[in-house]
Amino acid sequence: MLIKQVTQLIGDTPLIDLQMEIPNQSHIYAKLEMYNPGGSIKDRLGKYLFQKAWEEGKINNQTTIIEPTAGNTGIGFALVAQTYQLPTILVVPEKFSFEKQELMKALGAKIVHTPSEEGIKGAIKKARELEKTVENSFVPLQFENKANPETYHHTLAPEISADLPGSITAFVAGAGSGGSFAGSAQYFKEQDPNVKAIVVEPEGSILNGGPAHSHKTEGIGVEFTPPFFKDTMMDEIVTISDEDAFFQVNKVAKEQGLFIGSSSGAALAASLQVAEKLPPKSNIVTIFPDSSERYLSQHIYQ
Ligand code: PMP
Repeated sequence: MLIKQVTQLIGDTPLIDLQMEIPNQSHIYAKLEMYNPGGSIKDRLGKYLFQKAWEEGKINNQTTIIEPTAGNTGIGFALVAQTYQLPTILVVPEKFSFEKQELMKALGAKIVHTPSEEGIKGAIKKARELEKTVENSFVPLQFENKANPETYHHTLAPEISADLPGSITAFVAGAGSGGSFAGSAQYFKEQDPNVKAIVVEPEGSILNGGPAHSHKTEGIGVEFTPPFFKDTMMDEIVTISDEDAFFQVNKVAKEQGLFIGSSSGAALAASLQVAEKLPPKSNIVTIFPDSSERYLSQHIYQ
């Protein structure tokens, strides 16, 4: 394959038919988003959102991009912003992965830290403040931008449908901003209203009504209900402990040779639970959003 720009490598990631013991002789198919050039699902958002913002005249070749992010969005945005030669300021709560922050710096982004205890809400507030002081700045704000679910409705979900041998019984995926779940669930339900859409969250996320608290599973879990979730059809919410997520992260490396991050571990743990309740030979589709390589300094492997 001959390419001219790294962004050409975004999307068209592989779908793996996991060869492991799955209840009820069902299949779990996982979309391997670590194979995007920036290493995560969020490259797709950068590519789609910037293209749209450019076409709509919201950004030009003098714009500074400012975004509050837990990490992968920052990497995806900084990577795509390079092709437009736009400076990027990423507002990151301190607690997030060291490796992700190093990669953002490598891509030339400026990082502004906010206190960990203020969570993503603190980062959003700071980004809004910066927007007022930086001339010709644009805050895409993935948490509110409709281009977020649209990205996955237009790219990831159709790719899955094209690669899947057979029909989908259930779509199981985590939610951080909620964009990938909302956009994909909508697409699959448009294709077949019987597809079950099951959202995954770590303990400490609020979708299931539980109390908000911190968790080690990184990239998923919400502190407030994302606006797109108001219209999203969710058939079930599965809550996964950090312990169960990291158990799968370890198991999948040893048995499948796959380096998956903790949100992927949670997605797999939830998919296995869902398989127990679905009819035999169901096809469960899930997303593995990134790789474990960006969490190695947290000693995730036992
Ligand atoms: N997993 C990881 C590792 C992520 O970085 C993200 C994005 N925060 C997600 C899952 C969830 O994606 P979304 O924002 O589309 O809900």
